[in-house]
Amino acid sequence: MKIVLASRNKHKIEEWQATLKKYIDGVEILSLDDVGIYGDIEENGETFEENAFIKANAAAVSGYISIGEDSGLEVTALGGEPGVYSARYAGGHGDDRANNELLLSKLEGNADRSAKFVCTIACVFPDGRSGESFRGETEGVILTEYRGNGGFGYDPLFYYEPMGKTFSEMSGEEKNSISHRGKAIELFARRLAELKN
Ligand code: IMP
Repeated sequence: MKIVLASRNKHKIEEWQATLKKYIDGVEILSLDDVGIYGDIEENGETFEENAFIKANAAAVSGYISIGEDSGLEVTALGGEPGVYSARYAGGHGDDRANNELLLSKLEGNADRSAKFVCTIACVFPDGRSGESFRGETEGVILTEYRGNGGFGYDPLFYYEPMGKTFSEMSGEEKNSISHRGKAIELFARRLAELKN
């Protein structure tokens, strides 16, 4: 079974392939490049789910089962910011340092530092059956200082209390076992296993 993930990021494709293997055999993840879909996909949805479907639908012209993933951070004291703007919170797309600095300054002096990471996976089918989505969430606390060297994005500020570590201080395996993305992929994989049988 081949599935297209609406991404060009080789690292992400490999990560998905490895995580899916834990739950289901015989699934090959293809990238947009693998199926000859080029050009940017405009992520202009107002929710993670909308954006995930925008990406999945763009990949679905390939004729394969297609999935899109969208994720981000929601901070309680900021009314859910940065949300769908997580990657471009401070302006430039993917400027992690600037995004983290902006988050710290917005939370300065705020006693409520609770937050959650959210990941939504949308799956669309080539036979016209209606799409499905899967959501994973992980709660944590935004620290006042950076901790750890691993990961990406808001990882060095996101403290996960049950493990006593930030996401940046975890191994990849530790993070996958409790992360928003790990949870959403697991839900998707279990559903895929049902569909395959
Ligand atoms: P996208 O899902 O690729 O659009 O990314 C959304 C943005 O949310 C990323 O650029 C990060 O800023 C943030 N984000 C999503 N997941 C994580 C995570 O696991 N760790 C840290 N930041 C994340």
